Amino acid sequence: MTSRWEPRRTAADMRTDVLRRITDSDITDRNPTISEEFAAGGERFALAVKGANDGLWDWDVSENVMHFSRRWHSMLGYEDAEIAARPSEWFQRIHPDDLDAVRGDIAAHLEGDTPHFEAEHRVRAKDGRWIWVLARGLACRDERDCAYRIAGSMTNITRQKEVEEQLLHQAFHDGLTGLPNRALFMDRLTHALRRLDRKPDATLGLLFLDVDRFKVVNDSLGHSLGDELLRAVARRIQRSVRPGDTVARLGGDEFTILVEDVEGVEGVIRVSDRIQAALAEPFDLATHRVFASASIGVVMRTPGYREPEELLRDADLAMYRAKNRGRNRHEVFTPQMHSRAMKLMELESALRGALERDEFRLHYQPIVKLSDGSLEGFEALIRWEHPTRGLVSPADFLPVAEESGLIVPIGEWVLREACRQAAEWSLLSPEAARLHMSVNLSGRQLMSPTLIEDVRSALQDSGLDPALLTLEITENVVMEQAAEATELLQRIKDLGVRLHMDDFGTGYSSLAYLRRFPLDTLKIDRSFVNDMSADNDDGAIVRAIITLAHTLKLDVIAEGIEQPEQIEQLRALGCRHGQGYHFSRPLPADDAAQWVRRIAA
Ligand code: C2E
Ligand code: MG
Ligand code: MG
Repeated sequence: MTSRWEPRRTAADMRTDVLRRITDSDITDRNPTISEEFAAGGERFALAVKGANDGLWDWDVSENVMHFSRRWHSMLGYEDAEIAARPSEWFQRIHPDDLDAVRGDIAAHLEGDTPHFEAEHRVRAKDGRWIWVLARGLACRDERDCAYRIAGSMTNITRQKEVEEQLLHQAFHDGLTGLPNRALFMDRLTHALRRLDRKPDATLGLLFLDVDRFKVVNDSLGHSLGDELLRAVARRIQRSVRPGDTVARLGGDEFTILVEDVEGVEGVIRVSDRIQAALAEPFDLATHRVFASASIGVVMRTPGYREPEELLRDADLAMYRAKNRGRNRHEVFTPQMHSRAMKLMELESALRGALERDEFRLHYQPIVKLSDGSLEGFEALIRWEHPTRGLVSPADFLPVAEESGLIVPIGEWVLREACRQAAEWSLLSPEAARLHMSVNLSGRQLMSPTLIEDVRSALQDSGLDPALLTLEITENVVMEQAAEATELLQRIKDLGVRLHMDDFGTGYSSLAYLRRFPLDTLKIDRSFVNDMSADNDDGAIVRAIITLAHTLKLDVIAEGIEQPEQIEQLRALGCRHGQGYHFSRPLPADDAAQWVRRIAA
C-alpha cells in the first residue's frame, strides 16, 4: 500500500481522483478471496454491518480494491465467482440517472464534507431488472485525516420504493380511471401557466366536461355499470387528445382537459368536437348498451388570469351554460357569463331575504269541469311580491331557487300556505269542502328527505282533508330517478293525497314507469293545447295523450285553455277538466275566494 492520498493535494485533485476511481473499471484486480477479507474483521466491519440481510462492501481506496459480501452478490443475482473485487462491479451497474449523485455523495464523504456516505440508487441485477438499494458507508482516515478506505452496507429497498411510488401515484391519481386527480391537474395547470409567463405568444385552453345525465345511468343500472361507464368515458377522452395534453377526473362525472401549445380557441374547440364525437358512439357495458354525451365548457388563458383556480371556475361556468342550453354541446367562456353568475348569486341572497321577510304570495288558478265550467279546485302558483319590482313571476326566480336548494324551504312555505288556505275555504260551504288544492313540487323538493314529513305536518297543522290535496310533479324529475321515485310516490299516495303529472308531453316518459307510478291525472302541457287544431301534430299529440291516459285509467286536465273552441275540441276527445286564461288567470287569494263563494251561492 503505497499511494495513499497525499496531504498536499488540493481538494479538487482528490475529488478528480476519487471520481476517476469510482468509474474506472480497468484497475487490476488483486482479488483476494472475499471470505478471507471479511473474516479478517476489524474496523471496516464495525462500521458496516447492518444486519444479515444487507450486502457489505469494503473499498480500499488507495489500492482501488473493493470487496463485496456473498449477500451483496446474491442481492443482484450473482454467484460469488461472477463478481470481481473492484469498484466497477458496483459503479458500472448503477442507473445512469443515479450515477452522478452516488459519485458525488461518496466523494463528498471521502473529502470529509459529510459525516457519512448514504445514497439511494438503482442497480442493474443479473436478470436485467433495476433494483433499488440504499448504500451507506463510513470512511477510515489516517492521522492526516485522509480517507484510505471506506466500507459499508447495501440494502435492497425495492419493495419500499414500490410502495412509496404507489402511494405517490395514489395521492395524485383517481382510483377509478387511473387519470390524474384534481391535485395533479392543478399542479400541471400551475406549471403550464408559469411557462406561459415566459412565452407571451403561446396560449392554452382548458376544457371542463360533465357527462350528461350520468345520474340516470348510475341510479337505474347500478353503481358498477356507472363506474364502468366512467372508465370508458375516460378512455375515449384520452384517445381524443394528444399525448402531451392532461386529462384529469375531478370527481363524480367531471373531467378536465388541459390543452397546451394550441393555436387559439379554434384548436381547443376541435378537441372538444373530437371528444364529443368519440362519446357519441354507444358504450357496450357488461350488461347494457348505453348512450352518453357530455357538456363541455371551454376557457382560453388570457393575460388577465392569475390563479389556476380562476380558469377552472370559468370553464365550469361555461360548462353550466352548455348544460342549460340543452347539453351535449360546448360553450366558450365569455366575461358575460361571469356577470350572469354574479347576478344569480345576488338573486339567491335576495330570495333568502324574501323568505325571511315573507314576501312570497300564492295566486290561485281555478281548475274547472269542461262540461259546464264549474269549479273543481285550484292550482297554487307562487309569486314574489318584490318591494320595488312588483310581482315577480316564478320563471324568474324558481330556477335559481332550485339550483341553490332554497326551493326546499320556499316549497315548504307554499305547501303550508296552500293547505291553510284550502282548509279555510273548505269551511265556507259543503260544496267548497270538496274543492281540491294543487301544489307544485320541484325536483329538489321531491328528493328532500323531509318531504313526507313536510306534507304530513302541513296537512295536520291546517286540518285539511288529505284527499283534497294534490301534488304536481313533472315527468323529467321522476323519470331521471324512476326507481326511487316509484317508491317515494307510493309513500306520498299513502298519505291519502293525489298525484298529478304536470306539463305532460314536454319531457321524456317511459311507458313502463308511467304504468308503475301511482298517478291520478295527466296534465297536458299548454304548448300542445295552444296550437291545437284538428289537423296538425299538436292536435294529434293531445289526442294521443288523452288516449294514453284513459288506457292507464288516469284523468286528464288540459292546461292553458285560452279559446272557447279549444274546450269543444278537448271535450270531443274525452278530456273532462281544464284550466287556462279563458276561465281565469291565477288570482290573488281574495279574488279566488269570490269563486269559492260563488259555488256556494
Ligand atoms: P305549471 O305548474 O304548469 O303552472 C301553469 C302555468 O301556466 C302558470 O304559470 C300559469 O299562470 C300558466 N297558465 C295557466 N293558464 C294559462 C293560459 O291560458 N295561457 C298561458 N299562456 N299561461 C297559462 P306560472 O304561474 O308563471 O308558473 C310557471 C311554473 O312555475 C308552473 O308551471 C310551475 O311549474 C312553477 N311553479 C309555480 N308555482 C310553483 C310553486 O309554488 N312551487 C314550484 N315548485 N313550482 C311552481
Ligand atoms: Mg303545475
Ligand atoms: Mg303545467
